[in-house]
Amino acid sequence: MSDLTGRIAIVTGSGQGIGQAIALELARRGAKVVTNDVTGCCAEDTLAMIRELGGDGLAITADVSDSAQVENMVKTVLDTFGQVDILVNNAGTTRDNLIVRMPEEEWDFIQKVNLKSAWLCSKAVVRSMMRKKYGRIVNISSASGLMGQAGQTNYSASKAGMIGLTKALAREVASRGITVNAVAPGFIKTALTDKMPQDILEQLLPLIPVGRIGTVEDVAYAVAFLVSDQASYITGQVLSVDGGLVMS
Ligand code: NAD
Repeated sequence: MSDLTGRIAIVTGSGQGIGQAIALELARRGAKVVTNDVTGCCAEDTLAMIRELGGDGLAITADVSDSAQVENMVKTVLDTFGQVDILVNNAGTTRDNLIVRMPEEEWDFIQKVNLKSAWLCSKAVVRSMMRKKYGRIVNISSASGLMGQAGQTNYSASKAGMIGLTKALAREVASRGITVNAVAPGFIKTALTDKMPQDILEQLLPLIPVGRIGTVEDVAYAVAFLVSDQASYITGQVLSVDGGLVMS
């Protein structure tokens, strides 16, 4: 198991679901984790779970699609810990609709929450990572961003956009000891997929070669590897965690 002792990590949207599992896994490996969510209770809940594991960190309530709130969050982390080594851009949501029924606001909202947030958080931490000549950024994309999903033109575009962001930033900062990668989960059991109609889930299951829906821990283990020292020669990549749903 990789050792993240001494590392400071920010995991956005870590009040529940995949983000919470990532925060807990990084804490188990010794990182101090800044938990973040747009709602206060959830970031605090995850920090309490980290403390129960014997770890530590900081809970920050912030909407990561808002530049002022992101700047404040990163300033607080730098004032408290003096560094940010790991950023996991996990915050995201869905507003599914067929394109003919999708209001423009649902398109704009999803680009802002899923894609712009990742750009804002990366921009806010990258200068300090450059100074330290060390950094790990992981963007949580989606199988929908790789293969497209009917009813998710907004979501699929935002998740494909995260892959472009990953590759462009990876090239910009590679010489500074900073890696930037994406993880593309398939169907993972969380509140987000619990919203999906049962018949759609039943149609999807036969498409997954491994034969099961994923767990939040499946994603967390992949992220924990990509943020480790052992992954220093991996950058600009998209790692699918989807039971074989997408094979490129
Ligand atoms: P979730 O809804 O359970 O958790 C997402 C968290 O992000 C919530 O706690 C929410 O409050 C927070 N959040 C939303 N907007 C925010 C904002 N503006 N600022 C800060 N926090 C915000 O969802 P999840 O299933 O755990 O998904 C996590 C990530 O993984 C998302 O980016 C999602 O698109 C991606 N993903 C999920 C699946 C899946 O099957 N569950 C598959 C592929 C990708």
